[in-house]
Amino acid sequence: MELIFEKSVKGRGCEVLPSCDVPVVEAEGKYLREIELHLPEISETDISRHYTELASRTYGINNGFYPLGSCTMKYNPKINEEISKLPGFAGVHPLQPEHSIQGCLEVLKLAEEYLCEITGMDNMSFQPAAGAHGEFTGLQLIRAYHNERGDNKRTKIIVPDSAHGTNPASAAMAGYSVVNISSTKDGYVDLEELKKAVGEDTAGFMLTNPNTVGLFDKNILEITRIVHEAGGLTYYDGANLNPIMGIARPGDMGFDVIHINLHKTFSTPHGGGGPGGGPVGCKALLEKYLPTPRVIGTDRDGVFGLERYKELSIGRVKNFYGNFLVVVRALTYILTLGREGLKNASENAVLNANYMMNQLKDTYYMPFEGPCMHEFVMSLEELKKEAKVSALDIAKTLLDYGIHPPTMYFPLIVHEALMLEPTETESKETMDKVIAVLKEIYEKAKSDPGSLLESPKNTPIGRPDEVTAARNPVLRYQF
Ligand SMILES: *Cc1c(COP(=O)(O)O)cnc(C)c1O
Repeated sequence: MELIFEKSVKGRGCEVLPSCDVPVVEAEGKYLREIELHLPEISETDISRHYTELASRTYGINNGFYPLGSCTMKYNPKINEEISKLPGFAGVHPLQPEHSIQGCLEVLKLAEEYLCEITGMDNMSFQPAAGAHGEFTGLQLIRAYHNERGDNKRTKIIVPDSAHGTNPASAAMAGYSVVNISSTKDGYVDLEELKKAVGEDTAGFMLTNPNTVGLFDKNILEITRIVHEAGGLTYYDGANLNPIMGIARPGDMGFDVIHINLHKTFSTPHGGGGPGGGPVGCKALLEKYLPTPRVIGTDRDGVFGLERYKELSIGRVKNFYGNFLVVVRALTYILTLGREGLKNASENAVLNANYMMNQLKDTYYMPFEGPCMHEFVMSLEELKKEAKVSALDIAKTLLDYGIHPPTMYFPLIVHEALMLEPTETESKETMDKVIAVLKEIYEKAKSDPGSLLESPKNTPIGRPDEVTAARNPVLRYQF
């Protein structure tokens, strides 16, 4: 496909500007640009075709199945977009006086109330822009808590080896050293390892439950008790909230501070680098450390305001109030589904994952016995030994069938891992088609492994050199 600069033809254009209605003043020399502007010159027809072609090359949930495990690529109802586009939400300025944004403040307050109810937390801040940002913020709350008590020797955060990479990364960024503990062979937190790891230097412990291999850790009350008894706090990575909303609450499991990925569980389009939401919830003991500003007031008073300064607050982690329109989408989603709807969504997410896992388990090796929660992990280790076909080759071959690959090589504790999360929004018919494709690919891997090594064949590019693409991306056109 040609770049828009290559399609440019001198003198062509499609701009329709109104005539100037103010006196024309020549700019002084120092304000004039020194190099040529190089805007593409192109007709409206061609520019429209250019972007339509680009759009048709993008793959999203509206194109097809997107089983990217741990990412919850569910269908995002269009009503979320309609509501977040309303001028009263989309057109406000963050510095408007409080009396003129009462509706927006009420959205933030209501979303806080509902999400606290869903997670069993007491308070929430919407400032963090994504899950990893929430982790960093939550760890600052943990630090503030220990500091205020003068308990300064707590320098370590314990993280199981099944954790998402952002957990140890956030702990390191927050200035902690990371203690990794190994999981049991069936994928759970090893209680003996945990008991050995906790001590007077434990600031906190991070866990996602259900965990990254799709299993709910039934020892969770014991786990959080062990950490609390050692004087540490417990952090819940809420990226896997989708299978338990309306059913189980991190607050009841003994977690002190959590983040939620609004863009995953509560339905904002993500994956393309757009705005996300990683609100941090906490138990009342941590409220005084939350970032400011905080929305105050209730709908009983009918007046909402902003508390801009709190003495013990960790301060701001983002400008203004976070990605507000993501919160609008999340609240719309919660209100549309209601209490029963959220619970149904979770139940169907679990049902769909178990359906796929069971249909595939005679073909693909499942390292952890089910039932799973919202996702499951397959290991291609045996196939790789036998046929020299890797998880990567299977993933690349799926592209030729028009299916987005699952998450690859994660979690790290499973070799040659493929992790599938179908989500509640896929139909049985869609899953059946994908199951058939996965079985067909497996057969091919055995009968004609060479053909998989050449895939994908039907995509605009084949296999890029991933290291060069990541390290030396060419993002600017050279004139
Ligand atoms: C996605 C994810 C994160 C990070 O969330 P972002 O919103 O992508 O920053 C953390 N932990 C787990 C388990 C995740 O799946």
